[in-house]
Amino acid sequence: MSTKHIEHIIAPPPHHFVGDGFRVHNFFPGTPQIDMQRMSPFILMDYNSKFYFPPTLHERGVGVHPHRGFETVTIAYKGKVAHHDSAGNSGVIGEGDVQWMTAAAGILHKEYHEKEFSQAGGDFQMVQLWVNLLAKHKMSTPKYQGITNEKLNKYELPNNAGTIEVIAGEYKGVKGSASTFTPLHLHNAKLNKGGTAEFSFPANYNTGLLVIEGEIRVNSENKVPLNHFALFENKGVDISVQATEDAVVLILSGEPIIEPMAAQGPFVMNYPAEIRQAMLDFGAGKFGHLEE
Ligand code: MN
Repeated sequence: MSTKHIEHIIAPPPHHFVGDGFRVHNFFPGTPQIDMQRMSPFILMDYNSKFYFPPTLHERGVGVHPHRGFETVTIAYKGKVAHHDSAGNSGVIGEGDVQWMTAAAGILHKEYHEKEFSQAGGDFQMVQLWVNLLAKHKMSTPKYQGITNEKLNKYELPNNAGTIEVIAGEYKGVKGSASTFTPLHLHNAKLNKGGTAEFSFPANYNTGLLVIEGEIRVNSENKVPLNHFALFENKGVDISVQATEDAVVLILSGEPIIEPMAAQGPFVMNYPAEIRQAMLDFGAGKFGHLEE
């Protein structure tokens, strides 16, 4: 057993609003400990910690905007989010569901609170990750994977410890529900108080976890409180997560993409000239059309 130890435990940074519907803590690339390469292929994590939105008739969210060169992954824990994109895909994801959108060559989309949820009001809690693509995949065809909770592959832990939802990658032989371009693992560990889950990831994979509910102890060494992100060292392979109370933990680990990166706003490419091209293409309407 070679333990993968925690390098940093990061408290939720001050929140900001994305549009008027997403009240997020940006754990990366905005924190000093994690730049855009440190968690690659995960290049951005916005976390809307549990927040009550009062009822409204107004459609809260983010209006039509482009993306190119990567994927956006939205994981819903509380509330419902609706999505429309210029490739003709749309859907609503609710509690426990996952939306995996490959922007790749370019897409326009809008993300907002689902109508009935908005009108009723309620707790809202989401994670959005941006997953980078290799240069050879950045201009591939956009794709959309909407994965409801019942279609998420799951591994039941022994001793009533809880359940691992395997969003992508693999956990103890259970394959992830989403397809990915490069090797990565993305799991929700839903643990009962006292339950333990063991994980093994290659030493070089960039690895972290976010405590969504409850509180955990990691490797019998560190307590990681609610809404905190733990960044792991790039050595050692084994991690144990013990729930000191009922807990939900998002665990992410992936093979780093080691290529030049040029990022500006909603575009993540390899070189500045490709960012300029993305802006030109967007301006010329080459990302398609979507009604506001
Ligand atoms: Mn977006």
